[in-house]
Amino acid sequence: MFSRPSRIDSAPSRRPRSGIVSIALILVFAAAEALSVRSALAARTTAVTPSFTQVGRYRLQSHPWVNLHQRLMYEARFDDAAPLPVSGPDLENWKRAVDAYRAFVGNRSPIFDRELIAMNDALATTAARDLAGKMPGSVPQAAAKALAAAMPIYRAVQWEADDRANRFWIAVAEPLLASAGEELVEAHAKAYGTPFPKRILVDVTSFAWEFGSYTVGGAENAHAVIASIVPGNQGFASLEMLMHEPSHAIVDSDSGAIGPDIARAAAELGVDPPRALWHAILFYTSSELTRRALAARGVPDYHMIVKDMYARGFRGYGAGFGRVRACGGVRGEHVGREVRLVQDRSTTLIGDSIHQVGV
Ligand SMILES: [Zn+2]
Repeated sequence: MFSRPSRIDSAPSRRPRSGIVSIALILVFAAAEALSVRSALAARTTAVTPSFTQVGRYRLQSHPWVNLHQRLMYEARFDDAAPLPVSGPDLENWKRAVDAYRAFVGNRSPIFDRELIAMNDALATTAARDLAGKMPGSVPQAAAKALAAAMPIYRAVQWEADDRANRFWIAVAEPLLASAGEELVEAHAKAYGTPFPKRILVDVTSFAWEFGSYTVGGAENAHAVIASIVPGNQGFASLEMLMHEPSHAIVDSDSGAIGPDIARAAAELGVDPPRALWHAILFYTSSELTRRALAARGVPDYHMIVKDMYARGFRGYGAGFGRVRACGGVRGEHVGREVRLVQDRSTTLIGDSIHQVGV
C-alpha cells in the first residue's frame, strides 16, 4: 500500500470493575500514577500477551515486540510519526532508542535486508513468556538494547492503544477471510499459475515501513506486516490486502510469476520493461478477484484499491476491464485468455498467468 499511518488515539482505556478487584486496581493505579511510567508496568502485564487468530493458512497476530520494532524503524527513518505521549526522562530515553535505531537501520530496508528480515521474523515468534524483557538471541545487540530500553515506555503509554486497534482490525478481517479466503487463494493460484504461500504470518501493527504494508518470504512461508491504522487497509479492503501482500511472496519483478514474463517479452520487443508493471498487475489481480468475491456475497460496490493506485504510485497506468496499461507506449493487456505486452502494432505473449482475471 502507499499511504502512511496517521496518529491514533493513544489514551489508555479504563474498564469498570467491581468489588475487591476494583478496589485493588484503584490502589494499584493510584500508586502507579505517582511513579514514572516504568513503575506502572507491573500492574498491566496482562496487556502484553500477544493475541493471534488462525484462519486456515493465515495466522494474524498483534505482537508487542514487532509493533515496537516497526514503530522504532519508522520513527528513525521517516519524519511524520506521531510522538509518544511522554515527557521528561521517558521522552529522553525514547529519543535515545530512536537514535540508536537510526544508526542501526541506516539506509537499509526491512523488505530487502537479510538481517532486518531475520530480526522481524525472530521477534514475531517470541513467546509470551519472554515478553518481560528477554528477546531472541539472534536480534543484533544494538537493536536489542534499544528495544529493551524502549519497551517499558511503549508498554506503559502506547501498546494498549496499538493493540486495541490491531485486534479490532483482526476482528474485522477474520470473518471476511473465513468466508472468502480459500476461494480467493485458489483464484490467485490459478491466475498466477503457481501455488499461493502455504503458511502466512500476518503481523498487524501501527506502522509497516514506508507504504503501510510489506511482505517477505516465499511459497512455503510468507511473513506480511500490515498497518491496522492505514485507512486503505481497513474494512473490506483488509480482505484484498490479505491477498495482495502474500502474493508478493510468489510475484516479483525478476522472479516468480509475472515479472520474468514481462522482462522476457520486453527483451523480445527490444524495449525496457514498463516500470512496475508487474506490481500494477499484482494490484489489479487482487483488486479484481476480491471485487468478484465480494460481489458474490452481496457487496456490489466494493472500491478496488488499484483504482486509487492509478492516481498515486502508478500514475500513467490505467485499467479497463481485463487490461492493465503501462505508460511509455507499452502495455500489458489481456487479450482473450492471454496476457500480452503490446507496443505499437507488435504484440508479444507474456504468459497466461492472469488470464482468468478480467476475462
Ligand atoms: Zn504490493
